[in-house]
Parts: sequence; structure tokens; C-alpha cells
Amino acid sequence: MTLSDNIKSLGEGLSHLFYPSLCEGCNKTLLPEEEILCLNCNVYNLPRTAYHHIPENETAMRFTGRIRFERATSLAYFTPDGLLQHLLHELKYNNKKAIGIYLGKQLAYDLAQVNFTEGIDAIIPIPLHPKKEAERGYNQSLLIAEGMTDVLGIPVRERLLTRRRHTESQTKKTRAERLENMQEAFAVNEGANMPKHVLLVDDVLTTGATLESAALALSKAAPSIKISIATIGIAG
Ligand SMILES: [Zn+2]
Repeated sequence: MTLSDNIKSLGEGLSHLFYPSLCEGCNKTLLPEEEILCLNCNVYNLPRTAYHHIPENETAMRFTGRIRFERATSLAYFTPDGLLQHLLHELKYNNKKAIGIYLGKQLAYDLAQVNFTEGIDAIIPIPLHPKKEAERGYNQSLLIAEGMTDVLGIPVRERLLTRRRHTESQTKKTRAERLENMQEAFAVNEGANMPKHVLLVDDVLTTGATLESAALALSKAAPSIKISIATIGIAG
């Protein structure tokens, strides 16, 4: 290492001391007790749904009649160009893993206010296809699940479900073909000790096809399993 390399590396080390973290919402310097978002952005700019107070909320409605489930909720509204869109983009495409942990904690704080997690004995993040996970280097839903575990103390079971393929377009298939295809999108590690009531966790709810597939695969493997669902965002 040359002297100039040494000085450069010293400078890079010191920059962490002199450049404090900035709010992902407004770019203001975060206070030592703040992370990812300043208090103002957390309270006023993250459009929370408060669905955990409403059993028949929009997230639950999207699964009604499709799968058997206990409870369902989403933390916040996902709108194009909104703060949540920005946070999830940074989490998924810019390697900002701390955002996943942070959002998982925010969701968990809401769930802890009510009896949402009563009886739930495992948190299951929706797995990515192994190829996609290798490209990204991590599964954003696992980070969200880990943030939830930090608050709720419910273990993550990340190896119970594996992704076989992407949930492809289903429009040209019959209902029976669709069900078959969807159940096969995920594989359940059936040698595993099955939880009694799982909380399926994903980043954003759109059509719900992926979560529906995962729920169907779990129910097929363990007919008496109870399933609840929680996502960070709900798209319109
Ligand atoms: Zn802010």
C-alpha cells in the first residue's frame, strides 16, 4: 500500500464519522436516535393504512374467496412516486438492506398494538426464485421478516417454502389448471416440523397471486395450517 492509498483509506474510514446518515424521505440529517426516516417523515410522509385495526380491510378483501386465511394487513399505501415506493426501490435495487429491517419493525409495531399475531408461531418471508436471489444477493422479504422478529420475537422460518418458478400469467388457463400451476409455484419442505399458524410476509401486495400461491402450497402440505398475511405496501 502506498502512502496515498493509506491516506485515501483513512479518509474513507473517517467519512463515516463526519457524514452522518440522511433521511431517505427529506435528506435532512438524522438524529442519533433516528434511522432511515426522520420522525417527521415517519409520522407524516409514510402513508399508513391502519388496517391492523380493521379486520375487513382492503388487503383482506383481496384474498377473500381465494384462500382460507385468518387475518391480513398492509403497513402503508404504495403509490407511484410516493415515499414507500422510494424506500422499496432502494431496498430492492440499491442494496439498502437496513430499509428492509426498518420497514419490518414499523409493521411489527403496528401488529403489536392489537392481537394480530396471537397464536402465530412462524414468520415466513415469500422466497425469491433462487436465480433472482443470487442476482440481488438477498431476499428483501427475509429482511422485512427479520425486522419483525426483532420486535415480535416470533421466529422466521425461511426454509419452509422454496420458490420453483415465477407466478406466470394465468389468464389463458382454466380454474383447475390455474390452481395446479399456482400450487406448484412453491414447494414446501415437508420434512420440516410444520408450524400451526404462519404469518406470510411480502413487500408489496398487488394482485395477490404470489401470496395466494404460497398459501395454497402450505395448505396442500398441511391442511390444518392457519395462515395470516402481512405486507409492507398495498398497491392500488
Ligand atoms: Zn425526513
